[in-house]
Amino acid sequence: MSFQNIRAIGFDVDGTLYHAPEAMSQQIGKILIQKAAKALSQDPDEIVEEYLKRREMYRSNTMTLNSFGLEGEKIFQSVWDQVEIHKYVSKDLKLVKMMSELKKKYRLFVITNGSGSQVERKMTHLGLDYHDFDPRIYCYDQGWVKPDPQPFLAAIESLEMNPQEIVYVGDREDIDIEGAKAVGMQTIFVGGESDKSDASCQTVYDIGLLLV
Ligand SMILES: [Mg+2]
Repeated sequence: MSFQNIRAIGFDVDGTLYHAPEAMSQQIGKILIQKAAKALSQDPDEIVEEYLKRREMYRSNTMTLNSFGLEGEKIFQSVWDQVEIHKYVSKDLKLVKMMSELKKKYRLFVITNGSGSQVERKMTHLGLDYHDFDPRIYCYDQGWVKPDPQPFLAAIESLEMNPQEIVYVGDREDIDIEGAKAVGMQTIFVGGESDKSDASCQTVYDIGLLLV
């Protein structure tokens, strides 16, 4: 696969730029179930089994909360505001170095299912300057959810580029790769092998090898 016509690289954040440690996922899960139970006027123990079953099916906390008739995005965001991100996301010098190389050659941007306050905190803890990424599309702030085409189309418009000149990097085939592909962007899957993307790599650090 050749990426020689690429002028911009877009990144997903969660699971792509960093991996949520198990402890963080567990803390989030616990707070989410407590909040959902409270909103439903039930005891957390009463809903935990059903919650986990649905989350397994939807692979998304937001969609799981919605399936209970709750305002998923709102609850999920309020949980993030409680999570002590600094305990789990720390400076990643290898990532910082790669981004500083990439930005010499490419426009960098992010599209993430998240809100700006939460994502910018994470990026800062990783040691990245989020201003290096433009545009920064925080789907929840706009009422969008990947793989909706809107965030990807908004990126194309902001970059003023042809979609084939843009590559999007993500760790989820169903939301990142399919979403970006649907608008004509090129794609790189991170975290294994994907038949759906134009290229695959084990970790985000390999992007430097594919694109520098
Ligand atoms: Mg992700």
